[in-house]
Amino acid sequence: MNELWERALSSLRDKLSAENFDTWLSPVDCDAIEGDTAVLRIPNRFYADWISNHYSDLLLEAFEEAAPAEAPKRLRFEVDEQLQEKVPAARPAVPAPRPRGRASSPELSSPPATLKPTDLNPKYSFDNFVVGPSNQLGHAASVAVGSAPGKRYNPLFIYGGVGLGKTHLMNAMGHRILEDDPSARILYLSAERFTNEFIWSLQNHRIDEFRRRYREGCDVLLMDDIQFLAGRDQTQEEFFHTFNALYHRDKQIVVTSDVYPQQISEMEERLVSRFQSGMVADIQPPELDTRVAIIQKKAEAENIPLDAEVADFIAHVVKSNVRELEGTLLRIAVKAELLNRPIDLELAKDALRGVLPPPEQALTVEDIQRTVCAYFGIKLSDLKGKRRHRQVSYPRQIAMYLCRQRLGTSYPELGDRFGGKDHTTVISACRKINGLLEGEDEQTTSAVKALEMKLGA
Ligand code: ADP
Ligand code: MG
Repeated sequence: MNELWERALSSLRDKLSAENFDTWLSPVDCDAIEGDTAVLRIPNRFYADWISNHYSDLLLEAFEEAAPAEAPKRLRFEVDEQLQEKVPAARPAVPAPRPRGRASSPELSSPPATLKPTDLNPKYSFDNFVVGPSNQLGHAASVAVGSAPGKRYNPLFIYGGVGLGKTHLMNAMGHRILEDDPSARILYLSAERFTNEFIWSLQNHRIDEFRRRYREGCDVLLMDDIQFLAGRDQTQEEFFHTFNALYHRDKQIVVTSDVYPQQISEMEERLVSRFQSGMVADIQPPELDTRVAIIQKKAEAENIPLDAEVADFIAHVVKSNVRELEGTLLRIAVKAELLNRPIDLELAKDALRGVLPPPEQALTVEDIQRTVCAYFGIKLSDLKGKRRHRQVSYPRQIAMYLCRQRLGTSYPELGDRFGGKDHTTVISACRKINGLLEGEDEQTTSAVKALEMKLGA
């Protein structure tokens, strides 16, 4: 049973984000299947709701993959408080969507730090934003909004993956607007803070004040990470009215999200269509050249001496997002300082050791022989032996063919490695398999394909 659960878990791990996996499945255990029902032990009641609403199909599918014959068809939940220990302390930064209609208030112990002037981050300006093909559109739209808020691109919706510069652009817009008009009333905040303030205002009978602030006391609303509102019906409703109030008075609204408007889960249709009514711009992960430029710019800003060679190396290794790119650079700089060494390629490689893909293990004749034996279920001694029965000769020919293809080993040497056969035997084996492949022989095609997959691309 344990093994079945382990296998199911490992296939789920591939399908879910690490955050969601850690939050929702790590604290869950399963040690029994009763009839067609898997009994899941969960840390608290909430997990039962959450898992049945979000993960039951995936879970059943994973069981099915792990053990097609004995897979359960249903889930049952049992609370086991000891599992509480495994619940991660911090919730994921981007919360998983909440079930519709159940959106509950986040707990607020203290009033949010509200009614502050804009909280723009002074570090993020257009000057230190590197433009490349991946972010060109988002950048151009942001500059346009920064120079003429409330005019052409309203609302502006920017979407893109984590760490690609959405927050940076949003802050840069705010700064630009303030440069041109220092009296502009800019509200920059995350959708999470909007939610918290809204709920706090409701609970403390200050909703009128809240509405005045967002609907009347604001010329530019910069709302970051709108996906946080997923499933939060009441906050969405409030935001919808805020949006309309501002929009009808030509106030600029900018919204960012990690996905395209229509892909935000559990977002009211009318809000989605508002978002789509203006300018929608995406930001993609930066290309190599842009990554190099970003690293160099960051190094300059931080006074880190950096060779082109090292910048190039980092840009080749770290591809996913800009935050990671910057983090890597800083890590290398700190290491250099601690060790009192110059930042060179060697140090960079050292610092990135954990991140680098393992060096390619060269494939050998033995690897191919073993893989072929396992695939056909024959013994290595038979593969190398003299028997000519098709049951062994056919796998032998395939193995020879693969060795020749993949390793380019000479015919005589292959003859040796296959138990001392003549090189002409190897040649005719390769010809034969080649011919079968060209004639699209089904068994051969699928065997070779499967074996190549096992041997790695
Ligand atoms: P997001 O909000 O999309 O998750 P951020 O705006 O927080 O990403 O960006 C993450 C980090 O990467 C920030 O430090 C930001 O300054 C930097 N960054 C992202 N894109 C660029 C860029 N094109 N040029 C310079 N810095 C960038
Ligand atoms: Mg952000």
